[in-house]
Amino acid sequence: MPQYLKFVIDLTNKKKIWLSSPNMGGDELKHVGNAFDTNWIAPVGPHISKFEMKLSNLSAGFEVAALSSGTASLHLALILLGVKKGDIVLCSSFTFSASANPILYLGANPVFIDSDIVSWNMCPVLLEKAIENCILDNEKPKAIMLVHLYGMPAKMDEIMKIAQKYDIAVIEDAAEALGSTFKNKPLGTFGAFGVFSFNGNKIITTSVGGALICEDAVMIEKAKFLATQAREDKPHYEHSEIGYNYRMSNVCAAIGLGQLEVLEERILQKRAINSFYKEQLSCVKGISFLEDSEGSYSNFWLTTILLSENSAIDREQLRLHLEKDNIESRPLWKPMHLQPVFKECKSYLNGVSEDLFNRGLCLPSDTNMSIEDLKRVVSKIMELYEA
Ligand SMILES: *Cc1c(COP(=O)(O)O)cnc(C)c1O
Repeated sequence: MPQYLKFVIDLTNKKKIWLSSPNMGGDELKHVGNAFDTNWIAPVGPHISKFEMKLSNLSAGFEVAALSSGTASLHLALILLGVKKGDIVLCSSFTFSASANPILYLGANPVFIDSDIVSWNMCPVLLEKAIENCILDNEKPKAIMLVHLYGMPAKMDEIMKIAQKYDIAVIEDAAEALGSTFKNKPLGTFGAFGVFSFNGNKIITTSVGGALICEDAVMIEKAKFLATQAREDKPHYEHSEIGYNYRMSNVCAAIGLGQLEVLEERILQKRAINSFYKEQLSCVKGISFLEDSEGSYSNFWLTTILLSENSAIDREQLRLHLEKDNIESRPLWKPMHLQPVFKECKSYLNGVSEDLFNRGLCLPSDTNMSIEDLKRVVSKIMELYEA
């Protein structure tokens, strides 16, 4: 008997199943109410400091600046590293465009690095090759923009060794990887800077928001200064640097306080969703999963699958099949080196990220899903493979 028949599910149920939607823990409104009661409805206030303190506790005691978005946080990290017009920044190609855009805001040049097949993140071999070539051209890269996609840690041992060997600062774009660890060390605490995002689709959300973390308190002070229009400590408004309006709203931070209370629970839920898919779909020959390798602990923000090369069913077929049933799934990120906007940029390629894009799919990983919803997704997938 086909395995999916085990499930007694109502296939006429077409309730929307989301990839990853906001999931409030319960105390958010209480914190927001408190912000209203005390009239801290501004990009300054006690909820911001409290949110930063709690996030610091989760990040090996690193200093934290709560900011308006993950993208703003990446932008400030690049500025604090002194990235300027014409500089080279090595950047994961397999990512969301927000990792690369701030490099362009500064007039710097991204050089895209393809993925390794184990972590799907930046390939250390190509990274080193790119660095050596840049140095030969007398253009030593100013920074490495390293992404931990879908919550999966990059190959941190290899990459940090290379970064140290050539003395190049690493920015960890951990926008999707809050709570993930490598060898029990939180992601975001390996490089010079770490960045988180609290956008609506991330593992926890402040509706919109982000954070920059760094071991160096002076750097985080500077980040907060730049994020508040670079206003100097004077009674009048005095500016000797270009500033930005990048601070997090106190109301958003209040939401974040409620969300941090349930972060651990959300990670366990995301990991349980991942395990469920793996168990239920293990009998399907054409499907494989992105999995933790030794030392890595992913928050499995999204569960991602790869359809085999010779599969009769392709990624779009599966995606459309789910969509017909009101189930949201999504192709993996389209690599930056294939994006029209970055077509002039250099890249170091091995074909991995392009192949992942062609064959990969993100499955619904919404922590609001019930077990029945999960079974519905699995049944729908099996239906296509059993047909
Ligand atoms: C979401 C995301 C960002 C940007 O974060 P925002 O808060 O939306 O600006 C950056 N990088 C990656 C990999 C992301 O997924």
